[in-house]
Amino acid sequence: MSIGTSSNPLRVAVIGSGPAGFYIVSNFLKHDDVVVEIDMFDRLPTPFGLVRGGVAPDHQKDKSVTRAYHKSASQPNYRFYGNVEFGKDVTLSDLQRHYHQIVFSTGAQVDRSLGIPGEDLEGSHSATDFVAWYNGHPDFAGLDFDLSAEHVAVVGIGNVAVDVARMLCHTNDELKVTDMADYAIEALKHSNVKTVTMLGRRGPVQAAFTPPELKELSELSDTNVVIAPDDAMLDAESRADFEADADRHVKKNLELIEEISARTEQEKPKQLRIRFLVSPTEILGDENGRVRAIKVVRNQLVRGEDGSLKARSTDQVEEIPVGLVFRSVGYRGVALSGLPFDEASGSLFHDHGRVTDEHGEVQTGLYCAGWIKRGPSGVIGTNKTDAQETVASMVEDLKAGSLPEVESPGIDSAAELMQSRVPKVVAYGDWTRIDEAETSRGEQSGRPRVKFTSISEMLDILES
Ligand code: NAP
Repeated sequence: MSIGTSSNPLRVAVIGSGPAGFYIVSNFLKHDDVVVEIDMFDRLPTPFGLVRGGVAPDHQKDKSVTRAYHKSASQPNYRFYGNVEFGKDVTLSDLQRHYHQIVFSTGAQVDRSLGIPGEDLEGSHSATDFVAWYNGHPDFAGLDFDLSAEHVAVVGIGNVAVDVARMLCHTNDELKVTDMADYAIEALKHSNVKTVTMLGRRGPVQAAFTPPELKELSELSDTNVVIAPDDAMLDAESRADFEADADRHVKKNLELIEEISARTEQEKPKQLRIRFLVSPTEILGDENGRVRAIKVVRNQLVRGEDGSLKARSTDQVEEIPVGLVFRSVGYRGVALSGLPFDEASGSLFHDHGRVTDEHGEVQTGLYCAGWIKRGPSGVIGTNKTDAQETVASMVEDLKAGSLPEVESPGIDSAAELMQSRVPKVVAYGDWTRIDEAETSRGEQSGRPRVKFTSISEMLDILES
């Protein structure tokens, strides 16, 4: 009996309910010649991945993409299995007994390290932890950030670093109308932070932040954003690259950087400095093992073998006294139990979304999408085309007849398995109850929602 027909629907499991996972679901809707039943898994009771746990609380507009995900989730051929963890509650071989195709869209959950001495000192944190903490992710809600230092360094000048810097600079009035976790609003209210220094290892042309995010920084109400005129100047190679390419984002960034560097400082309580061409070489601690300074070396840019400009250190070093360091140099994916994994890139090996081993051999029935596939780059929308490619490969494999037969493809048998493994499986309808409870708590205080930040609180709502 052919797979993908009404008598034998294609059974797909999607592991991870962030944007990449939801774009897998919506892309399948475009293939109306395939009858598919999709089960989506998340280890949390809440869907939407980084849209809930990563996107900054003051960027509510970006979170409105969940309306489209909600539409996908409302299709009769979609089921959500929240509070079910792949590798712990269900294994790869469990899933292979129930699904013809399994898509991994688990994102990139941990930070890349700098590999310098002092990274583990008290007061040195990964931006990924801080972001998950202020967004109320249950795994991070218990962390404690001592914000008593006046001077903070943020290493990296990507959009995550910008988010972190912005959260440290916002006023309490600005934060208390967002869906930032209550404990984080409270902690930031009592923060002593007065100066934030962002450290970029390359120059303005290579900066990873995007113009709207830089513009937002430049408009912070209580903070002077400062770029030293020397830092804003381009070296000859960068100028040549820019003139040859004339990328409109780089152009806009350069205009903003020039405008900021020409500013005179106003009477504002906080300062945010953006530095270019500096790399941290060591985080220094005091006698109690707490961060007291960050040592940086001045860089120059040299042309690498791939033609891009890379940072090379000079002999000019400097010590910046700081009491807190956030390392924001990119995320990396975590290996998935039973799957080959490329440790070097922190992602799965794949060919057009088909999971392969390190030699390129396709692992039949296994696919990937999003950051676990292509690495931590791009904006939410980038996952649309990414998922489109993966779904095209999935449908191609289905039509080629290359999918394995599965033991129990029925919807009920998969449901029974999950119920037997997890005391409380959270269905999509359950999530909508959690969602309503959060938004109703928010309405009382003029906020988009007040998040539950522990799994037990969420499950209690479902019991009540
Ligand atoms: P990212 O954009 O890749 O930026 C990483 C930054 O870390 C870069 O400045 C990079 O410099 C620097 N870096 C890397 N290794 C370093 C080292 N050893 N020493 C010093 N600096 C180092 O990563 P991200 O900020 O984590 O963001 C991930 C993705 O999410 C990006 O695509 C981003 O645009 C997206 N995002 C978007 C938004 C938004 O749209 N508002 C918000 C958050 C995140 P080099 O350039 O020299 O490598």
